[in-house]
Amino acid sequence: MKTKIVIIDKASFQDEELWEAAKILRSGGLVAFPTETVYGLGANALDEEAAAKIYGAKGRPSDNPLIAHISAMEELLPLVTEISQAGRRLMEAYWPGPLTLILPKSSMVPFKTTGGLSTVAVRMPGDPVANRLIKLAGVPIAAPSANASGRPSPTTAEHVYQDMDGKIEMIVDGGPVGIGVESTIVDVTGPVPIMLRPGAVTLEMLKSTVGQVEMDPAIAGPVAADVKPKAPGMKYRHYAPKAELVLVEEEGSGQGQGEVSLKAVEAIRAMTLDQLSRGRKVGIICTDETKGRYPKEAEIRSLGPKDSQEAIARNLFGVLREFDSLEVTLIYSESFPKDHLGQAIMNRLTKAAGYHIIKV
Ligand code: AMP
Ligand code: MG
Repeated sequence: MKTKIVIIDKASFQDEELWEAAKILRSGGLVAFPTETVYGLGANALDEEAAAKIYGAKGRPSDNPLIAHISAMEELLPLVTEISQAGRRLMEAYWPGPLTLILPKSSMVPFKTTGGLSTVAVRMPGDPVANRLIKLAGVPIAAPSANASGRPSPTTAEHVYQDMDGKIEMIVDGGPVGIGVESTIVDVTGPVPIMLRPGAVTLEMLKSTVGQVEMDPAIAGPVAADVKPKAPGMKYRHYAPKAELVLVEEEGSGQGQGEVSLKAVEAIRAMTLDQLSRGRKVGIICTDETKGRYPKEAEIRSLGPKDSQEAIARNLFGVLREFDSLEVTLIYSESFPKDHLGQAIMNRLTKAAGYHIIKV
């Protein structure tokens, strides 16, 4: 299959530039497009065969459910049987935006889309290209991240091309995304909302809107093989770079916006020198404040200034992909404070590291 690329200027585009993409989606094909979080791989969420194509193109296990994306409130009602009070308040506060809500599904949503679950995940993206494309397609769009399963999520159209060329009909290139980590997921089917995945709508924000919010235990650590996690995707190793990634955390830090963590920097420096002397190609993930402190022979990448969680989130997946193409075999990463957007950053980094954390 030849993958067509359409370049769209997010700030000033005409509907007609998206017509072909919308037509492909409506007729059961696959189109990757930008959202505010990461690039999505879109298909008609109500069409079982189209949803199955997503699993095929990504190489994604088919019990990992998809998020249905809508462009306006009236598109939600046919998809669900009930909306809890907490769900309603969260929609009012954060839609359109980077928040996915789990709701009881209606019979209209095929089990192929929900991985066999009786609930459906729904999000209304705020990105103008995503929003308009969904509207023009006229159907809810299932759109997981447009990467091959297990690889870091794509934050540019070029990343999508690396993984999806020849496998999908079209890539809509709307430039780099703004947020860079996937949406926050909250289950609002029970009495207390449960956060299943941290994202740019932070725990602090959720609590300020609905009061009590619980966190799924799978956010904190790996789930045992015999436990059936609430969000099935949580059991898979995600966001993985090809190299071994080791996260270096300073004991007692990581909770707030603290000083530059010198103990961690020192430890990474020493381990890097040791590995370089053994002939290994080493990558380092750090911040603007610390990038000058590491051996020049390593591939050193700053995610941005330490006080800009936004920059760090936006650059994370791109840097992991860059290391893949540089063929480094070992990556050391600094840790980041876990408040606000830092919870999502550390969640993705910890998973990418396969929970390999060195405490210093
Ligand atoms: P993404 O990888 O961004 O497409 O997000 C899909 C993730 O959303 C899945 O891996 C699940 O963790 C979660 N998810 C989707 N639908 C449901 C659902 N019905 N119940 C619980 N989690 C869901
Ligand atoms: Mg994904």
